Amino acid sequence: MSHRVLIPTPLRPYTGQQDAVEVDGATVGEALSSLTSRYGDLRRHLYGEDGKLRHFVNIYVNDDDIRYLEKDATALKAGDVISIVPSVAGGAPGTATPEAPAAARELPQLSNDEVQRYSRHLILPEVGLEGQRKIKAGSVLCVGAGGLGSPAALYLAAAGVGTIGIIDFDTVDASNLQRQILHSTKDVGRSKLQSASEKLLALNPGVKIVQHDAALSSANALEIFRDYDVILDGTDNFSTRYLVNDACVILGKPNAYGSIFRFEGQASVFATKGGPCYRCLYPEPPPPGLVPSCAEGGVLGVLPGVIGTIQATETIKLLLGGGSTLVGRLLLYDAWNMRFRELKLRRDPDCPVCGDNPTVRELIDYDQFCGIAPQPAVTAPAAASAGSDEVSVQELSDRLKSSAPPFLLDVREPNEFQICRIPGSTLIPLGQVGARLNEVKDLAAGREILVHCKMGGRSAKAVALLKENGIDAKNVKGGILDWIDKVDPSLPKY
Ligand code: ZN
Repeated sequence: MSHRVLIPTPLRPYTGQQDAVEVDGATVGEALSSLTSRYGDLRRHLYGEDGKLRHFVNIYVNDDDIRYLEKDATALKAGDVISIVPSVAGGAPGTATPEAPAAARELPQLSNDEVQRYSRHLILPEVGLEGQRKIKAGSVLCVGAGGLGSPAALYLAAAGVGTIGIIDFDTVDASNLQRQILHSTKDVGRSKLQSASEKLLALNPGVKIVQHDAALSSANALEIFRDYDVILDGTDNFSTRYLVNDACVILGKPNAYGSIFRFEGQASVFATKGGPCYRCLYPEPPPPGLVPSCAEGGVLGVLPGVIGTIQATETIKLLLGGGSTLVGRLLLYDAWNMRFRELKLRRDPDCPVCGDNPTVRELIDYDQFCGIAPQPAVTAPAAASAGSDEVSVQELSDRLKSSAPPFLLDVREPNEFQICRIPGSTLIPLGQVGARLNEVKDLAAGREILVHCKMGGRSAKAVALLKENGIDAKNVKGGILDWIDKVDPSLPKY
């Protein structure tokens, strides 16, 4: 009996870039073992050392989460579609139409200019004059003014959301302009907050923009979130995403969630009354480095435009208290194959944050939760590097010039290798290292093995893999980007 398994982008390096694989099996467990026997490297991404499916990987049969069916023993019919849904960086369902936050407030009046500006909304019976006044009374916090925050904030300002808060501490970089449409070429080097405020006020001077010039943290999140009706999550890392989720659940603020990776995006609405939260879907984060960031993995520029616009759509409906929102549904978007799919989500009664007996009642240390160790204080650089698993780019440069140069392994993808490379390096993409261990050993021919990638994440994984197989290797800290900064600035950065 044959079934299709849809492979998400982060796992495609382990299936030879195939996005769907045909497998046999009478149950989900059999189908997955047929898959992982064919693609060995996939196995350790899906299963922990205890042989159980990892918590940050969800398996769906058609649109149902197998945790609510028979788990691994879930029977399959011919033609069933199995989806692997990893975190990208599932009680009773909540109502898809939560009450509008402005319901209890006195609504502001609209001026004649506003009536004219919003006329296309006013003639929609679902919005109308009262709806537009709810939008004007509404306040939304955009967490981040980047890829997702850009289109979202522009549409919220255009729609007349009365107060739009933005929290960001970053400056505009040239590599942001491919997707972060709030910022222009002339803004490179400026604060994203200032650039964003200018654009939003130019679009609609009638809205209030509140700038929060800070990194969101457990110390400030509750205080900042408290004043807003809806939180729009445009974060690009797991620790902030869990922080946003938990703060929203604790304060009872709906979270218009979106995330993007390469060609794929996800969107949902979390933390409404009775509805699921991000932790119901992904109780724990993936280990650091397993899911590359957009900076490592790339992202199609228009993708955050689609997902951020969906987040803005959900936000407007939340302010109106109308329509059917994504509460209880996870929307998946695949831009490369132009496919939208949706999966059912449920509130998990055992969820540590929104469950019946929550164990997380205040904000925690999210870097620690996500396994990101604090940077150790550098005391004696020479001592710190000796015998450790890492070398700096300066050390790499010195060793390459020495009489006994090391074997330098580059584990990036071929298209990255074409952009820039460190002279003398050998390319074997991370996904192939496991299958080409003997080749690595032969090429190194007894030399010390140093491994690098773009920023150091993938190469750390390659070093761990080599060591597991008895091959000693060291990671080049900071990757080729650090090499370009400190050793060879003539190479192009990407
Ligand atoms: Zn939850």
